[in-house]
Amino acid sequence: MSARRPLVAANWKMNGSIAANEQWLAEFRAGAKNLGSDAVVSAPYPYLAQLWVGLKGTPAEVGAQDLSEHRAGAYTGDVTGEMLVDVGCRWVIVGHSERRALHGESNERVAAKAARALDAGLRPIVCIGETLAEREAGRTHEVVRTQLAVVLAAVGAAALERGAIAYEPVWAIGTGRTATPAQAQEVHGAIRAQLAAADPGAARAVRVLYGGSVKPANAAELFAQLDIDGGLIGGASLIARDFLAICAAVPRPKG
Ligand code: PEP
Repeated sequence: MSARRPLVAANWKMNGSIAANEQWLAEFRAGAKNLGSDAVVSAPYPYLAQLWVGLKGTPAEVGAQDLSEHRAGAYTGDVTGEMLVDVGCRWVIVGHSERRALHGESNERVAAKAARALDAGLRPIVCIGETLAEREAGRTHEVVRTQLAVVLAAVGAAALERGAIAYEPVWAIGTGRTATPAQAQEVHGAIRAQLAAADPGAARAVRVLYGGSVKPANAAELFAQLDIDGGLIGGASLIARDFLAICAAVPRPKG
């Protein structure tokens, strides 16, 4: 990949129903002819097959929100990467801050999930980001660098060209408090530099998304930053026309 094609990924979190999703899909299909960006819609497991059918003929692909780091066996309630591929998934979010905080996922477990996703043929969107306390303690770069380093040690930088990194400051997720474009670019630049130290070619190709209260009104300004290649969108992605507007806010490919 020479230039970085923008990518906008929806994260529906634990929302949706067959009926509500059908409505969303109808609105999305009507507006998705020329999206401008690559797009992913990440839904709860029960709705992945519905999305597989409903997104056919659009440029968007199906994503899951988590996967098991194991291949098979006695892991009640868990889902393997192969099962996700089987129901039409191409992408999977790993290490979302809600999984790190609410399910105790460590950096090592997130890295194992990223490796497992790649092994199963999925494109991982690896989430990293600092909490408010960490930012206020001046630890943002250290925290983000460590989170990324553990993933790079597990899979290497070149493998992430198949997926993406999402920088999501935890204090901006679902709070309505967005990082300023300058704050976001500062961290994205550091992420790009860390990738470059590992593999300059990969650093030019890997897409680094911003996530945290992105809305149609602030998306263009964020996406215009040099090292921001699109977004991971939670709340605003539940409204199809807002998600479409955010997809339309991307600039030309960078890199
Ligand atoms: C997210 O869930 O990854 C996210 C960024 O949520 P929101 O857009 O609602 O802040």
